[in-house]
Amino acid sequence: MAWDLDDYRRDAERFLEEIDRDYYLHLAGHKPDLEVEAIYERHEALFGLEAVERIGEARREASGEEQRRLRYLHQFALDGHLGARTRTLEARLAELEATLELDIGGEAMPYRMAPVIQANEPDPGRRAAIDSARNALLDERLNPLHLEGLEAVHAACLELGWPSYLDAYSDVRELDLRALAGRLDEFARATEQSYPVTVDPELERTVGMSLGELRRSDLVRFFRAAHLDELFPSDRMIGALRETLLGLGIDLETQDNVILDTEPRPTKSPRAFCSTPRIPDEVYLVLPPVGGREDYATLFHEAGHAEHYGCTDAELEFEFRHLGDNAVTESFAFLLEGLTASPEWLEAVLGADGAERAIEHARASRLTFLRRYSAKIAYEVELHGPGADLEAMPARYSELLGGRVGVEWPRETWLADVDPGFYVACYLRAWALEVEWRGELSERFGAAWFESSEAGEWLRGIWSQGQRLDAEPLLAEASGGSIDFMRLAAELTASV
Ligand SMILES: [Zn+2]
Repeated sequence: MAWDLDDYRRDAERFLEEIDRDYYLHLAGHKPDLEVEAIYERHEALFGLEAVERIGEARREASGEEQRRLRYLHQFALDGHLGARTRTLEARLAELEATLELDIGGEAMPYRMAPVIQANEPDPGRRAAIDSARNALLDERLNPLHLEGLEAVHAACLELGWPSYLDAYSDVRELDLRALAGRLDEFARATEQSYPVTVDPELERTVGMSLGELRRSDLVRFFRAAHLDELFPSDRMIGALRETLLGLGIDLETQDNVILDTEPRPTKSPRAFCSTPRIPDEVYLVLPPVGGREDYATLFHEAGHAEHYGCTDAELEFEFRHLGDNAVTESFAFLLEGLTASPEWLEAVLGADGAERAIEHARASRLTFLRRYSAKIAYEVELHGPGADLEAMPARYSELLGGRVGVEWPRETWLADVDPGFYVACYLRAWALEVEWRGELSERFGAAWFESSEAGEWLRGIWSQGQRLDAEPLLAEASGGSIDFMRLAAELTASV
């Protein structure tokens, strides 16, 4: 059969529909098994070497809107091709992760449960013991597979004619990843002085120590911030979301395409998630049965994705609904998530007393996250660059991450801590973009913008474009603004 671009697009859309629905049904606890293997087999041709090359050729000859469609499709084909090359390895990794157990003082602990147990463990010595047992197991059993996978995707990019994995993703994302890492170096320098001043009081409050004494194993406990749970009652969680969206003129009751899944099921995922088999017609927002600060934050984050996709114009081309620059959708997820740490929202919706505590914690943990991500992108640029010396990378990883976060950083996670396809660049730009959306909303509609249906209308106007545009031109078109990491730095270090 002759290769045809329109057939490819139709097949790609069907593939995403099947895969997303399968994940939804499995993770929401409707069915025990994932059937992704069979779905990949049915759509094998999407991810062959030929597809990546053909789309690349068509992209070079196209211009304007069609060229952008083809760029998004090029990334889809490349992601899928690299995924296909490592699928067997990934399956073995998943199986090992699901079955390995740590030995903590004679007590067996499932590998995947370790971070959760660690976050809820008040004793720092025991947290460190869990972390080091997990790292040892990772290094011995999982890292050989992770390394094999990394070498396979690096080789595939060379085979496809790019000088490196870094160059492949700079090309399909049309983003200068080296320059972006440089801008984040500046962010790290700009926040260097005030970092300890901002985080130390929160560290004292959550783990009872300051940066000098902190270990990496204490970070999950710091982010967990169990002392804030009382501000976020479980029985108010769904109501708080409904109320907030209603304030923006969005009624979840009548919004038929965004399906709220609140029913408890024994095998339902403990975290909220959003799944999008058909955009905008079939979008699931799945809610966990519990509450607490982190569950509120996750639920609002996922609701941001659900509304962004749910309000996308059905007439847009497939690429602009399902593919494109995920910095866009992540920025709206961060926008709604950010409400759960905003003084106005906490007071108006939860009637929270002492909201200051939540706001201070959010700022300290956000600054820590961003400094960590600024190191991650610097590291990934080196790891995936042309002729990278892989032997030297575990030490580089530990040096870069440890330096920016200000703690001894174990080397063992040098491969497991890397998301595929430079997703790190989406999160970083989304954090900066969120500052712009929030600034614009406050300026136009006031600090309580979440109570304004005009604000909702303005947002829906932007959401209707799906991911037709990359983050930067979308922002320029909507507000004339630009992504500025220095503005983010200023916000995170404000009252210092
Ligand atoms: Zn997200």
